[in-house]
Amino acid sequence: MKPSKLIKTLTFLLIPAALAGFVAQVIAQEGLSRQQRIEKSATTEIWEPVPRMVEPGQGSAPPSDAMVLFDGSDLGSWTPVRSGSAGWNVEDGAMVVAPGSGNMRTRESFGDVQLHIEWRTPAEVAGDSQDRGNSGVFFMQRYEVQVLDSHGNPTYANGQAASVYKQHIPLVNASRGPGQWQSYDIVFMAPEFGRDGRVRRPASVTVFHNGVLVQNNVILHGPTEYIGEPLYLEHGKAPLELQDHGSTVAYRNIWLREL
Ligand code: MG
Repeated sequence: MKPSKLIKTLTFLLIPAALAGFVAQVIAQEGLSRQQRIEKSATTEIWEPVPRMVEPGQGSAPPSDAMVLFDGSDLGSWTPVRSGSAGWNVEDGAMVVAPGSGNMRTRESFGDVQLHIEWRTPAEVAGDSQDRGNSGVFFMQRYEVQVLDSHGNPTYANGQAASVYKQHIPLVNASRGPGQWQSYDIVFMAPEFGRDGRVRRPASVTVFHNGVLVQNNVILHGPTEYIGEPLYLEHGKAPLELQDHGSTVAYRNIWLREL
């Protein structure tokens, strides 16, 4: 038999068979008593594990199980990356980049996280492209979601706000103007490494910028490099880091949930 004829014959036989099965199932269910239907439906119910209760925050307040990294008052969860640096400043409930002081990192290390962070580029616009309101949120000190004033500020698309720096262009530009508070809600999944030190599961990230989906579970090719191709090197949990790129970018309301 020719392959095309075989397919025709199989289709001829299979479609009526599938239809008959469906009809039989409907008839069988029709014939069930109310009690029998309840019992049958229960076979596909799963009752455990019961998700634990989390009190969601009002507005942008953190949920009850979040770790608050900055509540507007003190930098106790943070330390300068560069030894001897005085670090950043706290002004009007925000932590603000002190240009030249270097990056800030959390004291604690993390792997998979859900992060909420709010940021604001300077109201007074200075510079252009990568020199306008540049900062960045580095997961595990290696993987940057870009912070930039991308409101009417052309630059390379894989380096604009909410890009995974030089790896993924955001789906849309959801930027607010300079001097306005903006938010990122991010799910970051850490890379996993095998016994041989090679990456077994690459890192991935989902980003909402001001509530708009801009990175949909994208796969990272390795650390986000300024120059050259990314390359994974084995590492464990590591701090969250915020970038000093010479612009007085402010951050507030920073919290995360370890996943
Ligand atoms: Mg940056």
